[in-house]
Amino acid sequence: MIDYEVIILGCGPAGLQAAIHAARAKASVLVMGRRENSSISGTHMENYFGVSYTAGEDILRTGVEQAKKSGAALVCEDAVETSIDGENIILVKSESGKIYRSRALIFTIGITRNTLNLPGEKELVGKGVSYCVDCDANFFKNRKTVVTGNGSAAVSGALTLIEYTGDVSLVSDKINVDEKLLNQLKSSSIRVFEGNAISEIVGKEKVEGVKLKNGETIETDGIFIELGAKGAMELAGLMGIGMDDSFKYLAVNRQQETNTPGIYAAGDICGPPWQVAKAVGEGCVAGMEAAKYVKKFR
Ligand SMILES: Cc1cc2nc3c(=O)[nH]c(=O)nc-3n(C[C@H](O)[C@H](O)[C@H](O)COP(=O)(O)OP(=O)(O)OC[C@H]3O[C@@H](n4cnc5c(N)ncnc54)[C@H](O)[C@@H]3O)c2cc1C
Repeated sequence: MIDYEVIILGCGPAGLQAAIHAARAKASVLVMGRRENSSISGTHMENYFGVSYTAGEDILRTGVEQAKKSGAALVCEDAVETSIDGENIILVKSESGKIYRSRALIFTIGITRNTLNLPGEKELVGKGVSYCVDCDANFFKNRKTVVTGNGSAAVSGALTLIEYTGDVSLVSDKINVDEKLLNQLKSSSIRVFEGNAISEIVGKEKVEGVKLKNGETIETDGIFIELGAKGAMELAGLMGIGMDDSFKYLAVNRQQETNTPGIYAAGDICGPPWQVAKAVGEGCVAGMEAAKYVKKFR
């Protein structure tokens, strides 16, 4: 009647950790997704407890091996459709058209960071262009930095960065944040260039500056593009899963349960901070809770 008790959508840190815990709790588990599409693939990490440096690809490869060893099955395909039938059965359709049936579903499909597609942006990613203050602020201690964006991701990013370096400029078309954040910005030493936008990121081997649309240039060692994230919400939204107050992320409780019985979520899809440590913590809880939930159908 069912193919797997728990299906996990996503093969990143949250999904793999959920798989390890659910499978070790004796649930039958399927993980869907491509590990090379995880945000941590192709980059490295220095801020995970007990690991001073690791390439993302290394932890993902080991995570896949651990999930398999724990008893989980993996398919390198995305889900294209999810639905619930009337009898507590969840249906997941894969890219190749196969339909899997499960009792519980865990969304760990991550997020896609919004980019500006400016001249110089793609070439200088990791050489001064960053999309994540929480991940990279530490590399810019006492260096010149620029943050761009209009919303709370940009303003709170700039406020975080000013704790690492005294030299932060915020470039924004129009700042659009709540009053509390705006007051914090006003009382900080961040230089604000409002009513302007970046037209080009300048530098050969590394970022040297940003050109503004009004012709000005700001010298900088780093540019943080903090436009928030595109949620991969289509699948979850269609199932009527509740969103948080920002309407960008899935709303979950401390058991990682969504508003729908049997459906859990973990990792970046549940909102910032977008960090591996948070993703695996939430994945662990979601995996254990889903394994507990499916037992009642045996
Ligand atoms: C440049 C960069 C540097 C970073 N540096 C750090 C750092 O130093 N330290 C740190 O802690 N964090 C860092 N991060 C953040 C970290 O990568 C994320 O927080 C973490 O990967 C989130 O894990 P996740 O499992 O929630 O999502 P992801 O790792 O993004 O995984 C999402 C998974 O879902 C899959 N998926 C998507 N859609 C579907 C679908 N329809 N069906 C099935 N599967 C689907 C994807 O293929 C992927 O396997 C960095 C991120 C970036 C981009």
